[in-house]
This record gives sequence, structure tokens and C-alpha cells, in this order.
Amino acid sequence: MKEFDTIAAIATPVGEGGISIIRVSGEKAIEISDSVFRAKNGKKISEMNTYTMRYGNIIDRETDDIIDEVIVALMKGPKSFTAEDVVEINCHGGVVATNKVLEQVIKAGARIAEPGEFTKRAFLNGRIDLSQAEAVMDIISAKTEVSMKAAVQQSKGRLSREINVLCDNLLNVLAAIEHTVDFTEDDEEIDPSVTENIKHKVEEFLQNTNNLLETAEEGKIIREGLSMVIVGKPNVGKSSLLNVLLNEKRAIVTDIAGTTRDVIEEYINLDGIPIKIVDTAGIRDTEDVVERIGVERSREKINEADLVVLMLDMSRELDNEDREIIESVKGKKYICILNKIDLNTKLNDKIVDELENKIETSTVTGFGIDVLKEKIKDMFFNGNIDTESIIITNTRHKQALFRAKENCEIALKEINNNAFLDLVSIYITSALKALGEITGAEIEEDLVNKIFSDFCVGK
Ligand code: GDP
Ligand code: ZN
Repeated sequence: MKEFDTIAAIATPVGEGGISIIRVSGEKAIEISDSVFRAKNGKKISEMNTYTMRYGNIIDRETDDIIDEVIVALMKGPKSFTAEDVVEINCHGGVVATNKVLEQVIKAGARIAEPGEFTKRAFLNGRIDLSQAEAVMDIISAKTEVSMKAAVQQSKGRLSREINVLCDNLLNVLAAIEHTVDFTEDDEEIDPSVTENIKHKVEEFLQNTNNLLETAEEGKIIREGLSMVIVGKPNVGKSSLLNVLLNEKRAIVTDIAGTTRDVIEEYINLDGIPIKIVDTAGIRDTEDVVERIGVERSREKINEADLVVLMLDMSRELDNEDREIIESVKGKKYICILNKIDLNTKLNDKIVDELENKIETSTVTGFGIDVLKEKIKDMFFNGNIDTESIIITNTRHKQALFRAKENCEIALKEINNNAFLDLVSIYITSALKALGEITGAEIEEDLVNKIFSDFCVGK
């Protein structure tokens, strides 16, 4: 692998802008940059102090023509983003100028960086661990302030510290097992208090792991947004609700039943929580092909959603279509909206009385919309979002934690069955390995490459 050669890439978004930055990192970053840079004061980058900047020109090495006027910044390793020598060339924004500067740097001996390769080097050089590297990507793609805060916490190593504590828990268990096995004769009974102590340690680990896993639902919502689907028969007011939540007319609202033919998706920002709202065609059996596509997808969307908003029309009597839709939300987290409260109420049914989380609304007057918003926050964040405590936002981390938990549960069962402690230690070791995948202490190279390939170029 050409691991530690010198790499370069445009680190700013491509397009017209005030400035663009070309980042060069590696053993020869200074030497390569020096060969294309001519400082106004005639000095070399190699003579610069770290964390200083210098003004000058990038020149074409073959023709000696000036390509762009630039400011060069030097950050010497190991105190740089990649922990290697890094030179950042601030040139004029604009696709042509930027590409020409990059081209010169490449001609001088650097290689075009792969997506995420700068961050990957920071990881491979031991400056940050894997969960911190992933947080760098999350910071870039954060949709709201809340998801940004969670990512920043993680990038500072909050999660890594927590995981390392869990690893220590398990290492203690392994040490206790080893000690016991070493000091027990083959035919000797193991002192029950020793086994009890090991068991206690595993239980403690499971408690801590479960606490962390419990944050994963909130974490996923913070990172990806809460997915909420609005369902109801035609004309109950689904599109109107979507519009009220969006504060604008986006979905088509009509009096003709079945106008919302396809599924519409929109994002709203509810006090920092991104919510992805899906408006669907009413769920019902239909002959209409176009509409049927919408209906099938509605069913799919109900299954995928974190929250289902079931809408009923107060101005009409409950019919079989409503009943079928009510049936379809059973087992899901739902809120039942009783809409058109501004009209005469005709909806009166025992089935509706039995539904939970009912809110009366009018999308025409706006009545009940604030109550709906509060209800959503209550159901998912107990009313407020805690950005200070540690939250699992990454599915990969969640899965690894889950595997650690499963292995320890088996270990616990084996202890209770009086299994040989050697067998127990196999499961504890597997759990430890799963945790190591989060920080990158124990991870296959393929997976590392896959994680970083999702990054953007220049990061
Ligand atoms: P959808 O088919 O469920 O998406 O329903 P729409 O949002 O297209 O609304 C159907 C009709 O009901 C439109 O004429 C809306 O103006 C009307 N409507 C929606 N919500 C209310 C409400 O709260 N009160 C009243 N009076 N009319 C409403
Ligand atoms: Zn609609």
C-alpha cells in the first residue's frame, strides 16, 4: 500500500467562491509545495515556522508563468490534522484557478487524495480513533444544531472514553478468570465467591452497555431525523397538515379524494430535531393503478417510520376505510389527529375512544398544531433534548455494542450453568473485540477503507 506518500486535494467545495484551499499532506508536502511556490519575500516554505502563513505566487514549473496569487499556510506534523506535514494553499476561488494549482502540485509529485484520505491518515497516524474520524464526517453533514453538537462531542473523544471504560470492565473480568484458572488445581472446586464476583462484574458491564444502547434510538433520530408518516383516508387533511408544518404550500391540496398520488417527503426542524415527514396516498384498496402504487408505498412507509400520524376527519362518520387504517397502525408508535375540529362533529365511535395520543386539530385555524409538536418531543425526547450526555448516533457503533452485549449475556448464562471459566472467557473476548471495532482498535482493513470511502474528497 502506498500509505504514506504525499497526497493533495481541493478541500473546499468546488465552484465559484472567494477562495479555495488545496491541502497537501505527507512527508514531501513542504518540498513539493516549495517547488511550485514563489514567496514575495523570496523565502522558502521550509524556512517558515509552523502555524504561519506566507504570501506569494504559484508558478507553472515548465513555463515559469504565474498561475495564481496565493497565501500558503504551514502546519508541521505531528500537530496538524493528519499528524503529517500539511501545507494549505489558499488560492482564488473558481474552478479553473483551483484546478490549475492542484495540477501543478500533482506534477510536482503529490498524488490526488481519495475521499476521506486526510482523515484516514489522522486515524492511521494515531491522532484520532475511528469513532472520532466518523464524527468528523458527521460534523460536515449535520442537518441541525443538535446533530452538530452530538458530533462535536464525539469528535472530542467522549464516546471513545466511554467505550474504553467498558473495555476495562471486560479486561477485569478476563483477569479475574485467568487468575482463578491459574490458581485452581484440576480437581479442585472453584470457590463460589470467586464465581459470584466474576458474575457481578459481567452484570455491571451489561448494565452500562444497556444504558448506552438505550440512547441509540434518540441518537439515530438526532443524526438522521425522525421519520414521521401521515396516514389517513383521502380528504382528511394530510396535505394540509404537511403544509401547516412546513409553513408553506408545497403538497397539492384539493377537494377531490386521492389527489396525493405519490409519496411526498419534506424536512422540518422542530427545535433542533430534524423531522422527515412523509405524506401518503390514503391506504385503501383501489382499482386505480397510479394510486395503488402510492398505497403500497404507504404501507411500506408505515413500517419504516419512527412515528405514524393517523388522521381522522371529525366532520365525517367513521367508515371502513378509517377502520382499516386504524388497524394498520397497531403496534406502531402513533399519534391520532382528530382533524377539522372547526366543523360540526360527526365522528363518534368506540374504536376512536380506545385510541391513544389523540389530539384535536384544525389545519384551517391552526388549532392544536403546537400541542402536536409538543407531543412529538414528549414521545421521543421526554420533552427535551440532552446534548451534554453521550448519545450513540452511529448505527455501526450500535451494532458493535449490541454484539458485545449478546456475547456477555451468553457468558453470564454459562457462568450460571457452572460452565468452565475458560469457555466464559471466549465470550468475554468476543465482546471485547466488538467494542474494539468502535474505536478502531480491532478492525479489519476492508472495513476501515469502506468507512473512509463515504467521506468527501479533501477531508
Ligand atoms: P388529504 O387528501 O388528506 O391530503 O386532504 P387535503 O389536505 O388535500 O384536504 C382536503 C380538503 O379538506 C381541502 O379542501 C382542505 O382545505 C380541507 N381541510 C383540511 N383540513 C381542514 C380543517 O382542519 N378544517 C376544515 N374545515 N377543512 C380542512
Ligand atoms: Zn393529500
